Amino acid sequence: MTEIPTFALASNKLKSERTIVNVGDVQIGGDKPVIIAGPCSIENRNQLLTTARAVKVAGADIIRGGAYKPRTSPYDFQGLGVEGLRLLSDARAETGLPIVSEVMDARDVDTAEAHLDMLQVGARNMQNFSLLKRLAECSKPVLLKRGPSATIKEWLLAAEYLLVGGNESVVLCERGIRTFETEMRNTLDLVAVARVLELSHLPIIVDPSHATGRRSLVPSASRAAIAIGSHGLIIEVHPHPEQALSDGPQSLNLREFSSLMESLNLRNMSHVTSSVNDRHEILSTV
Ligand code: PEP
Ligand code: MN
Repeated sequence: MTEIPTFALASNKLKSERTIVNVGDVQIGGDKPVIIAGPCSIENRNQLLTTARAVKVAGADIIRGGAYKPRTSPYDFQGLGVEGLRLLSDARAETGLPIVSEVMDARDVDTAEAHLDMLQVGARNMQNFSLLKRLAECSKPVLLKRGPSATIKEWLLAAEYLLVGGNESVVLCERGIRTFETEMRNTLDLVAVARVLELSHLPIIVDPSHATGRRSLVPSASRAAIAIGSHGLIIEVHPHPEQALSDGPQSLNLREFSSLMESLNLRNMSHVTSSVNDRHEILSTV
């Protein structure tokens, strides 16, 4: 008998077909990697709309932007709150692209749900169980980031809270974990992506911006993520990263984002799955 892991609903033991999550009319988890792009924080209308228009032209599928910001220091910019969500809705109206933003507090979920196409649980809140229980009742998909010190099992159990509470539209996001290494902001655990693909039917994407903390490393981390089978990327972009109110050093400018998109050569990913299947077929005949 197959053993069912404790993350029963997130595992692929009870459900073998892969889940596809619809965000507006964008599908995450299919053959084509989905690119989410936009500023770390929404700072003002011009900054957000300039970025939104540029990333759309470059080929992004979904716009991101932080309105409620989890900042390490209470003295740092905390985000525009609901005004940020309104600006993000304007960016959707103008570009036609769906929008995603982080919600940190269960009390903000109603407002966020009314404005957004997808709600993000930030790394610091991956085990905020009251937030997860509230989001389980939300009608919108959830982007669940991996906690900086969370094991894969803890992460899938956090997803389980959403699934068991009734929200089946969950996308996982690997954004780097904390290790002894300090050269990068975090350590991108790329093989976790491949392992999650083995364990779970849920789609998984990678955040090369927070994983590296360095603009120069974002393109190679992005290409590696796609090569290992990630269903997409979430990338921070700012018209003037040197003036950004948060995460400037890891943000691409508009031109850099556009060249990254060209270099990604986003054909569909069936080559990843089919090469695995071919390999199985070849091996089974040996
Ligand atoms: C973010 O996406 O801006 C963010 C704060 O990410 P994380 O929760 O992964 O640190
Ligand atoms: Mn950020």
